[in-house]
Amino acid sequence: MKKSIGIITSGGDAPGMNPLIRYLTRALIENNYEVVGFKNGYRGVVNNEQYKLTYDNVAGLLKRGGTILGTSRFPEFKTDESVRLKAKEVLENEGISVLVVIGGDGSMRGAYDLSKIGVNTIVLPASIDNDMYGTDETLGMHTALSTIQDAVDKIKDTASSHDRAFIIEVMGHRSGYLAVTAAIATGAEGVFIPEVETDVDELAKRLRKRYEEGRRNSIIIVAEGKASAYDIAKMLKEKDIGYDIRISVLGHIQRGGIPVFHDRLLAFRLAMGTLKAIFDGNFNVLVGVKGKEITFTPLKEAVARRKKLSEFLINSVYTFRWED
Ligand code: ADP
Repeated sequence: MKKSIGIITSGGDAPGMNPLIRYLTRALIENNYEVVGFKNGYRGVVNNEQYKLTYDNVAGLLKRGGTILGTSRFPEFKTDESVRLKAKEVLENEGISVLVVIGGDGSMRGAYDLSKIGVNTIVLPASIDNDMYGTDETLGMHTALSTIQDAVDKIKDTASSHDRAFIIEVMGHRSGYLAVTAAIATGAEGVFIPEVETDVDELAKRLRKRYEEGRRNSIIIVAEGKASAYDIAKMLKEKDIGYDIRISVLGHIQRGGIPVFHDRLLAFRLAMGTLKAIFDGNFNVLVGVKGKEITFTPLKEAVARRKKLSEFLINSVYTFRWED
C-alpha cells in the first residue's frame, strides 16, 4: 500500500505557498506517495476536510499567490489538547504517516505540540517576515520585498512632486528584516525596527537639512512591530522637519502577488528537503536553507531559539545617515 503524506498551509499566508504545494505534491507522487491536502490549516485536519492533491490539479500553481489549501488561525488547537488528539486520530484513521506543515512560527509550535503526542511532522517555513529560527530565508519574503520596493518607488515619485516626507509602515511584528532591507533597496533616509533604537532628534535634524537643501522627498520606513506610521509621524511633526508629512500603511498587499523567482526557487529547495527528510525518517524538524545547504533543525531547538537580525543588517541601520 502507498504511504500517505498530509499537507497543510497554516497561519499567515505567504506568496510561495502555492508553488511549494505544487513542487511537493509532484515530487511525492513521483516517488510513489499518496498526497492528502487538508483545507484551512489545523482546523481542516481536525474536521477531516480533505483536498485531494493530484499531479494534475496542482498545475498552474507556480505563478499563483495565496494558497489553494486555504489557511486559518485556529486558537483552540493551541489551547486544548483534546483538539490536538482529535487531529492525531484523524491522521491515523486516514493512514497518514507524516503531516507537512507549511507556515510561520505559530504553526511550527503547533507541529511541535503534535510531535509530542506522537505525530510525525515536518515544518516548512513560510512567513513574509523572515523571522523563523533555523533558516536564512522564509517563503514569501522575497515577493513581499519586491512588492514593498515597488510601492515605495511609486510613493517616492509622488513625494518628490510635493516636497513631502513619507512614513511608510511595513509588516514585521517581531523582526525588522523587511523594513531594513526595504530601506536599503529604496534609499530611505531612516528606518525604525524593533531591534534598534532610532535617534529621532538626529533623524529630524537630517530631514530638516535635506529640506533646506531642496531635496524634494524623504522616505522613512517603520516596521509595524516597532511603532505605527502614525506614531512616527506624530513624533516628527513635533520636530519641525520642514517637509509636509504623509503616511502610507502598505498592509495586506505585502502578502499577495505572483511569487517572484527567489520564492519559487526556495519553494523547490524546501520541497526537495522534505523528500529527503521523509526518505531518511528524519521527522519533527524544520527544513530550512543556510547558504547553499538545505538544513534540518529539530523542532525542539527551533521553538526554543529566536532568530536574530544579522549584525550586518543591524549596522546597516546607521548607514542611512549617509547622504545620497
Ligand atoms: P503563523 O504560523 O503564521 O505564525 P499563527 O501564530 O496564527 O500563524 O499560528 C497558526 C496556528 O498554529 C494557530 O492558529 C494555532 O492553531 C497554532 N499555534 C500557534 N501558536 C501555537 C502554540 N504556541 N502552540 C500550539 N499551536 C500553536
